[in-house]
Formats: sequence, structure tokens, C-alpha cells
Amino acid sequence: MTSAGRFAPSPSGDLHVGNLRTALLAWLFARSTGRDFLLRVEDLDRARAGAEVEQLRDLAAVGVTWDGAVVHQTARGALYADAISRLAASGLTYECFCTRREIQEAPSAPHAPQGAYPGTCRYLDPAELEFKRSSRPAAIRLRSTVPEYKVRDVMHGEFTGVVDDFVLRRNDGVTAYNLAVVVDDTAQGIDQVVRGDDLLASTPRQAYLASLLNMPEPEYAHVPLVVNSDGVRLAKRDGAVTLGDLARAGVTAAGVRDLLLESLGLPAGTLKQALAVFDPDTLPRNPWVWKGVAGA
Ligand SMILES: [Zn+2]
Repeated sequence: MTSAGRFAPSPSGDLHVGNLRTALLAWLFARSTGRDFLLRVEDLDRARAGAEVEQLRDLAAVGVTWDGAVVHQTARGALYADAISRLAASGLTYECFCTRREIQEAPSAPHAPQGAYPGTCRYLDPAELEFKRSSRPAAIRLRSTVPEYKVRDVMHGEFTGVVDDFVLRRNDGVTAYNLAVVVDDTAQGIDQVVRGDDLLASTPRQAYLASLLNMPEPEYAHVPLVVNSDGVRLAKRDGAVTLGDLARAGVTAAGVRDLLLESLGLPAGTLKQALAVFDPDTLPRNPWVWKGVAGA
């Protein structure tokens, strides 16, 4: 089995400087620990035609190199179905017929965190199940046996987060992110997950799921996001934030790479040069505010 890190973009549009900064970090974490670096296109949802080609081109333009073929989640349905079958065989799944609105309006269990599934469909009797099956397609939820789970994170230390009966397969048949990511990381030999810290909150769910599937828990490093001047996670609407936009404003891909490296306290230059001095302990712990570039 390989030892590998990864970057796993959704092909929903061009990568922006926040995505590229996370990709550089994932690359630096992997390469500095002798790992392979893999790319996985998370195209179960929100895929836009042509976006993948542009994303790979932009990653290469800032110096990111990867090993082996790019993996696509849409080609991996059998792996996800197998994992869900294994959980079902252990009594760890159930069908859920709730709409989003019903979940929002359901009284939540005492002490249940905001947004946690209230468990409405957990104990349906056979007659209720029969009736609901005839009215609506079911989502598949995990029958969780713990309220929370603890993970270790290189950037955040120990982190304990909620584990509710989260969705494994949506009622439109699409595999949920939390299931796909665990199955894919294991199947690809990925033992280091570096990604934006907006995903830290859902990480205990994934680590718990991995434990149920007898899959290894990777090393996690949730890195700070890039935010706009209002402190909100950077998005395409925040002006010139993609390599294409910035090129039109006169900033080359190498120039963008230098800006991103400097924002991480690393020297401008090639990624190889950055690798020589990379140390996770010295990385900034706070979000980086993108102020744009002159002329853009
Ligand atoms: Zn339900």
C-alpha cells in the first residue's frame, strides 16, 4: 500500500486562490513527508463541463505535481455501494424519508447540536416503513452508536465533534460526501488528509465511519482558509481570484504562487525551494485575508 496525500477538488468551476493555497499546502505536507500526492475529482455533484481540465492546468501552472492517474468519484459507485452494504449487514443503516423542511421543523433531541438529524426515521415500524416507501424514495442514514468522536489534527490538536445519524446515500441515489471520502481515501492508500478547516467539523463523522468499516484513520491537517475583506470564505464573486482573472490583471501563475507562499511564511520561488524550509509548526493559524492585487 502506498502512503499518500491528496487534493480533491469539486469540478464546479475554476479554482480560486483559496483552493490553490490549500492545494499547495497539501502538496507540501505530502512531499515533505515522503508521500505520493494524488488528485481525485469529486464529481458526484456539482460537476461543470470543462472545469476539470482547467483545474488541472491551473494546478500544474502553480507547480503542483501529482502521481498516477486522476481518480473520479463517478467511476467508483461499486465501492460506495459495497461499503453501504457492509454497514447495512451489520444493522448500521436505516432508511430516512424526511424532507429538509421536516428535519428543520422536527423538535430536536435535548442537547442535540444545531443541524443534527433528530432521528425521526430511526425507529419506524414495518407498517410505517411500508407506507413511507410507497410515497417517497429513501435516503440511507448511518445508525450511529456514539454522540461524538475524537480525532487528532496536526493544526488543531485533539478535536471532538458531533456524530449524528448522517446521510450515506441521498434519496436521489447520490453517495454522500462523508461516505465517499472515507472509502476513496482508503482505496487510494491516502493516509494524510490536508484540506480547508471548514471541513474540520465533519471530520469526526468520517473518522467514526472509517472505524466502523475497519478502515484506517488518516493523519488530518485542517488548514486556515482564505477569506475576503469581510472575513467571509473567499468566493468567485470576490473579484479577480482565479489564475485567469489574475493573468488578465498582469499577474502570472508564478506570481500568484509567490503570493501564496509568502502568505504562508514561505519564501517566494519554486515549490521545491519552499519544500526545503517547510515546517507545519510555523504555518499561520489564522485565515489569510485576500486583498486583491493592484490593477485587478
Ligand atoms: Zn427521516
